[in-house]
Amino acid sequence: MRCPRCSGVEDKVIDSRMAEDGGAIRRRRECLTCGRRFTTYERLEEVPFVVVKRSGQREPFERSKVIAGMQAASKNRPLSLAALDQIAQEIEENLRLEGPEISTQAVGLAVLDALRARDHVAYLRFASVYKGFTDAGDFQREAGLLTKLTTPKHSATSGPEQADA
Ligand SMILES: [Zn+2]
Repeated sequence: MRCPRCSGVEDKVIDSRMAEDGGAIRRRRECLTCGRRFTTYERLEEVPFVVVKRSGQREPFERSKVIAGMQAASKNRPLSLAALDQIAQEIEENLRLEGPEISTQAVGLAVLDALRARDHVAYLRFASVYKGFTDAGDFQREAGLLTKLTTPKHSATSGPEQADA
């Protein structure tokens, strides 16, 4: 971006937020040459949004892929396609704020966060297939955490030896 005061081309982004009902990203920038602050708007349909794979390969972000991944994880779960579509839209908007390029890992983590808040089963299924999360230890730790959170109180106060007596 060119500074409106000194035409310098180096700037840093100091704030990013969605504008125009999610149709644009508004960024506050500060010129590194003269310190002038200015605002830019990026229309989403004009801004490339790229996913960088582990291999370094780049491809355009596709919301439909995010939805397909969540759909697979939420089979027979009470998450409608409309709900998944909404989740995917929120994920896309949040990730776009982080930059024109995003890692597949960041996308996966965003999906995990979204599912964890909505459906534990879908969340665990997605976690189990999510490539950055295939380490069995991670998965078990998360599953254990969820069990603790969702298990009724009495099992927490009585140990196994008492249960047998
Ligand atoms: Zn400037």
